[in-house]
Amino acid sequence: MKNLAQVEQILLGGFPYWEKKVSERIDEIRAISQEKWGVSMAVKIEPTLRGLSTYGSANFSKKRIRTHKYLLCEFGDVYIEDVVVHEYAHIVIGERSKRGDFSHRALPHGREFKDVCSHFGIDGGATTDLYKNSKWIKEKRKEKLKKTRVFYYSCGCNNFFHEMTIRKHSNMQRGSSRKCTMCKTRLTFHREKFPDTDKGETLSVKQEAKKKIASLFGCLEAVKN
Ligand SMILES: [Zn+2]
Ligand SMILES: [Zn+2]
Repeated sequence: MKNLAQVEQILLGGFPYWEKKVSERIDEIRAISQEKWGVSMAVKIEPTLRGLSTYGSANFSKKRIRTHKYLLCEFGDVYIEDVVVHEYAHIVIGERSKRGDFSHRALPHGREFKDVCSHFGIDGGATTDLYKNSKWIKEKRKEKLKKTRVFYYSCGCNNFFHEMTIRKHSNMQRGSSRKCTMCKTRLTFHREKFPDTDKGETLSVKQEAKKKIASLFGCLEAVKN
């Protein structure tokens, strides 16, 4: 059985190697940039991204590129070309814009950017499909889903359900009890919401009001739509 922590531990074993590869590749394209445009920007590489949707980012004023260390370790050279080189091209464009190389504002992924990318040996297009099969992303998604699990509890009120988080649910399974503030009966476990396909228990309650009231552990109040 694999879980996120295990996948991360395995991936991180390769981190020192890939981190070195990143800085070697930056040195290479920095030399190209120096030769081609007389621009040799030093950047800080910060492997601090942890999310599911941002694979890399560049901050020109801070001269910083943020990388995703798990995706770096998982995809290695492919990630370096796709993301690190791409982000470095943004830094080069930033410096060239500042210097006045362009008579107009260079668009983030415009033709000046594509031109820099082509000198670095990449097309500059943002590839995202590759990461769909990422082990790390799959495990991270599962973990996220677990955290957002929903458990329905019923009380004496007709057709009302109380939504509980996994934390509250496990406390209740271990004996802590909660009462409905309206009917004063004890809440009993009804069912868990299935991920993805489940529309949940249909309550004639507006989503916001539902959450607000549920957070006060009170009974859900009907709101006529
Ligand atoms: Zn970009
Ligand atoms: Zn009730």
